[in-house]
This record gives sequence, C-alpha cells and structure tokens, in this order.
Amino acid sequence: MLFLFPLVAQLREKLAIPVAIDNDAVVAALGEYHLGAGRGSKRMMMVTLGTGIGVALLMDGEPLRSADGRHPEAGHIPIASDPVNCYCGLQGCWEMLASRGWLQQALARQIPDLAWDSHTLGVLSEMSAASPRVAEILYHYGQNVGRGLNTLLTLYGPDITVLSGSAATLLPLYQSGLDAALNRAEGYSLNRLIVQAALGDAAGALGAALLPALRETRHSH
Ligand SMILES: [Zn+2]
Repeated sequence: MLFLFPLVAQLREKLAIPVAIDNDAVVAALGEYHLGAGRGSKRMMMVTLGTGIGVALLMDGEPLRSADGRHPEAGHIPIASDPVNCYCGLQGCWEMLASRGWLQQALARQIPDLAWDSHTLGVLSEMSAASPRVAEILYHYGQNVGRGLNTLLTLYGPDITVLSGSAATLLPLYQSGLDAALNRAEGYSLNRLIVQAALGDAAGALGAALLPALRETRHSH
C-alpha cells in the first residue's frame, strides 16, 4: 500500500510560513531564470552535470512537466550503444556517460589523487596541457555532453542553455569536444548559446526560496 505523507501541509502548519516543494533540477533552473544567467529568456534549458544529470526546461519561467505532473528525467536519453548499464534499465544513458561521475572515474586512472574543489579547473588545465591522455579524456567527455545536448536542443529549441554542477565549471577544458558533437551541416542551425550558471551551488537554494512566492503569484492570476 502506498502511503503519502503530507509533507508540505505538515511543514506549513509546524513552521507557520509559506512552504512549497519541487524537483531539485526545477528549483535550480528557477534560481538561474529569476536571478542568474537565464534572466529574460523565453525558453531556458538548464543542465546540471553532477553525480547524475538533471535537466529542466522553463517556458516563460514555467517548468515543462509530464502529463502526470512528474518531472521528465532527460538524463535517461540514450546517447551511445556503449554497453554501460544504467539503473533505469537501458544501456548508454546520457547520465552514465556525461555526469561528473563518468569524468571523475575516467580521470582517476590518470590522476589518482585529483580533488574536486575550487582548484580542479587549474589543476586539470595544467594536466591536460601536459598529458595527451588527459586532454583526450576531456575531449571525449565534451563529446558525451554534446551528444545529449544535441538531442535536447533539437527537441526543445531553447534560447539559452545554462550548464551547472561541478563539471560545468570545467567547460573551457572540454569545449572543443562539445563543439564537435554539436556541429551540423551549414544551414542546419541549432541555438548553441550555452553558458555557465551564474549562481553556482546556490541556484537550487535560491530557486527553492522563491518557490512559495512564485506559486502565490501564479494562483492569483
Ligand atoms: Zn538510464
């Protein structure tokens, strides 16, 4: 039997403040849309490259949902026939091949003691200049990110794509692989405006903080 706990109602009652709940990718996108890199966009796609891949599409600030109200999990579009099993039951899901987890694992063989902090960009930048193997891994990673983006840009046609998450800060290191994967014939153009998030890790918290007020505004119209 499925038991649904009324979390929002309980929190609202106990805390006596407005409470709203939503998917982590959606609230991060709302943060960037209202306060960060996506301000003024008509159709903003946000892709978070972390331990998995989160995707949210906002149309005039409203998140795209499935017919049943759920959040579409676009990290599970297949991008390769690589025999990499995903927990969703498919092989070659974008999330398995383009999350930070994939990059971390691929680099671990070359740089066993690589730490993921504010110095990673600098360290990897030096390593990739010195080691063709590291440069190759980063290029391959960019291609993997680009393959999934290619599908989503084709379907959604956003005016801006905001990349966030720990792997987004490394974008300059795999930009060439990403560009290669997005290249199409001349005249077949996709909007390739892809920028890094402006709010960093704070996007989710800021977007979540805006959520009750946004729901309020929408219901009053
Ligand atoms: Zn999957």
